[in-house]
Amino acid sequence: MVVGAGLAGLRTVVGLREQGYAGELTLVGAESRGPYDRPPLSKAILSGKSDDSALPFDPEKLRVDFRPGVRATRLRGDVVETAGPGEASGPDLDFDGLVLATGAEPVVLPGEGARYLRTHDDAHALRAALRPGAAVVIVGAGWIGAEVATAARTLGCRVTVVEQAPTPVAHALPPQVGRHLAPWYAEAGADLLLHHRVAAVGPNAVEFADGTTLRADVVLVGVGVRPATGWLAGSGLELDRGVVVGADLAAGRPDVYAVGDVAARWSPRYGARVRGEHWDDALRAPAVAVANLLGGAQAYDPVPYVWSEQFGRMVQYAGLPDLPGTRLVWRGDPATDDRWSVFWLDQDARVAAVLAVDQPRDFVAGRRIAESGAAVDPALLADPAVSVKSC
Ligand code: FAD
Repeated sequence: MVVGAGLAGLRTVVGLREQGYAGELTLVGAESRGPYDRPPLSKAILSGKSDDSALPFDPEKLRVDFRPGVRATRLRGDVVETAGPGEASGPDLDFDGLVLATGAEPVVLPGEGARYLRTHDDAHALRAALRPGAAVVIVGAGWIGAEVATAARTLGCRVTVVEQAPTPVAHALPPQVGRHLAPWYAEAGADLLLHHRVAAVGPNAVEFADGTTLRADVVLVGVGVRPATGWLAGSGLELDRGVVVGADLAAGRPDVYAVGDVAARWSPRYGARVRGEHWDDALRAPAVAVANLLGGAQAYDPVPYVWSEQFGRMVQYAGLPDLPGTRLVWRGDPATDDRWSVFWLDQDARVAAVLAVDQPRDFVAGRRIAESGAAVDPALLADPAVSVKSC
């Protein structure tokens, strides 16, 4: 049984059939629609280039009992309790094997009436509100905030992004890197207010920690997500900013696995617990969970990867946010070059992380080297004329 019908849930179902599981299969999903991709919500769908991001899914062909609109409400032993639309409780579903793929939910700020962007319906409602000339306040200059700002500017809105940190994407990038993303806002005609902590939000205003307010036609909050684990309280599973799983993705018992945004997996590579939160994880982890559920012994331990399309640029990052003891090697000068990349090297000159702006070749090679754990020559790497592959 699979709980959560997003990308990770779908990939689990597909993986089970691809890897030869022929038994009964149930997919429970709280949303009323079939699986769809979320990255286009803040890009093509918000800017009006596309209306839908449904993923190919044929329940009949996959021989899966798909239950849209059904929420798992409790895990008790080898039974999942459910509730259908408008129901306080629905049927109990028992399982021999369970994969948790309930994803994440936006972090909510105090106050009522502000918008959040997680679902297809959120994206369509926000798009309808982004009328030319509308004053839009976006709380959070992270990946999502920047993408919404990009779409809103494209649609002719007046955009202000407010951020408590001194630089954009501060949860993932240190200030000496993140500061180079700040000028992109002004170039696109958006105001960026850094060092502004929002204390409360409403439908038409945000209130700052100092008591002042900023009025708007639309308020969109993008300040991060938390794993959707509420229904697992009391289940006996370890929950710590996600369902705690090992590198095999098992959740402390051999018949329960967690994948995608909901998982907090142990990474032998980093000697730390790592949260999903990115599309690539939801795509790739399920095949490993499935293999292990079916009796295998695989480990899932990639270098985390995220991309973001903001202000006409493709930004790609692989690595962990917090990398103490690393030094930066720049390829290109962000102050003068449109395209550049930066590498984090550890004490042994191994690539711990890479960020690339419109430099897909640097990125692909850098990510591959990071995955391999090989050392590079820092002097060669600093020379943009030398390909990363040759460093
Ligand atoms: P989800 O996609 O969240 O799916 C989980 C599903 O489970 C949901 O449908 C939910 O309703 C359902 N569910 C939750 N609780 C229950 C329950 N109790 N019972 C039944 N069902 C339940 N990542 C990138 O790397 N690059 C990007 O550019 C990028 N852009 C993004 C843009 C937006 C607007 C958003 C929201 C996310 C973006 N991401 C991006 C992140 C990426 O989409 C997620 O990492 C990915 O969707 C995670 O997939 P998932 O299947 O684990 O979880």
